[in-house]
Amino acid sequence: MLETAHAAIRSAATKLGLDEDAVKQLIDINNEHIFDIKLKNGRTYPAYRVQHSNKRGPYKGGIRFHPEVDIDEVRALAILMSFKTAAVGLPLGGGKGGIEVDPKTLNQNDLEELSRKYVRHLHPHIGPDKDVPAPDVNTNPGIIDWMVDEYEIITGDKTGASFTGKTVARGGSLGRDAATGSGGVIALETLLKHLGKTGQKLTYGVQGFGNVGSFFATVAEGDQPNWRLIAASDSSTGLYCKSGLKPSDLSRHKKNGGSFKEYKADGVSSITNQDLVGLEVDVLVLAALGDAVNKKNMHTVQAKYIVEMANGPVSNEAFEFLDKKDVVVLPDIIANAGGVIVSYLEWLQNKSGEHWSESGVNNKLEKYMTSAVDNLYKTHLSKKVSLRDAAYINAIKNLS
Ligand code: GLU
Repeated sequence: MLETAHAAIRSAATKLGLDEDAVKQLIDINNEHIFDIKLKNGRTYPAYRVQHSNKRGPYKGGIRFHPEVDIDEVRALAILMSFKTAAVGLPLGGGKGGIEVDPKTLNQNDLEELSRKYVRHLHPHIGPDKDVPAPDVNTNPGIIDWMVDEYEIITGDKTGASFTGKTVARGGSLGRDAATGSGGVIALETLLKHLGKTGQKLTYGVQGFGNVGSFFATVAEGDQPNWRLIAASDSSTGLYCKSGLKPSDLSRHKKNGGSFKEYKADGVSSITNQDLVGLEVDVLVLAALGDAVNKKNMHTVQAKYIVEMANGPVSNEAFEFLDKKDVVVLPDIIANAGGVIVSYLEWLQNKSGEHWSESGVNNKLEKYMTSAVDNLYKTHLSKKVSLRDAAYINAIKNLS
């Protein structure tokens, strides 16, 4: 993934006529915190926080708990965050954290101990005006609540602005849970408007039905009656139904602790995650992990549009191949920026001691996202470059 992030930056920089020195400056990382967390049960987990750039404001970005987390992945994700906040015009920088752990192997006590110890190691380097972490893969508002609580115990900071993605009871923002998914729906809708395709019927598949994918589908179910979800997958299996799956049913099933393997409904058959990537759909929404479309499966893609809701789900090689085939890739640093946009709104509320209504938050999210996609499309036309290049060009302009 680090290679993909570097390649995306280099490609855009070249189109702006920047030299290798300038590219190096854009890629260079400010700080890396690498440490081990030892739990009372004797197990040790490698942990990271990478602070890429604070040129536009405090470092900002999630913390993921996943067995495949490593330093290069966290570096790539930190770089993506700086370009994301810049591409959508937020006064924030970019960072990312991670712990190499499979949270499914931990009980609640271990999970709390791990989350609190992460903050105990990192507290001198984070804070409301330094570095503001948030949830990412396998982390959630409950975990962030433990972290913000630990930060408050250690430092006495009562603003809650040291972390975003908290529960609403702990100072989180209304609308934050759905923000990444609903931002993706707004981004796709705005892009389709620019392409003259507003209101057209389309079919889509969602890879990954966690917080991001499930909200994308349920928000689209309410707001986009012409979009039909015909396939969805989680890590257990994929589901297919030509006449349409019901996003709210799938989401309820997942919230009740079920996996897609146990999901049964009329007309629904099972497919693999790879089948889903190669399915005949208009839009493929990638909301699982990085490199989901890669050199092995890129030839199977039939979709006309790909929405990168995960971070780095289309590898660089796959992107170049698909771009030549005129598959439109809506890039991650725009498509999934809804989460960090509402994180920014949460941070503003915490700093000013305000609580905004859900509709107020959603209106602001919509404004940021439509204007980011409008600017993206403008650069795509004026520079005659892919949407991915256009997103990075817009980000580089804001980072320079
Ligand atoms: N983890 C999310 C992302 O990758 C959100 C980051 C944040 O809100 O700071 O964009």
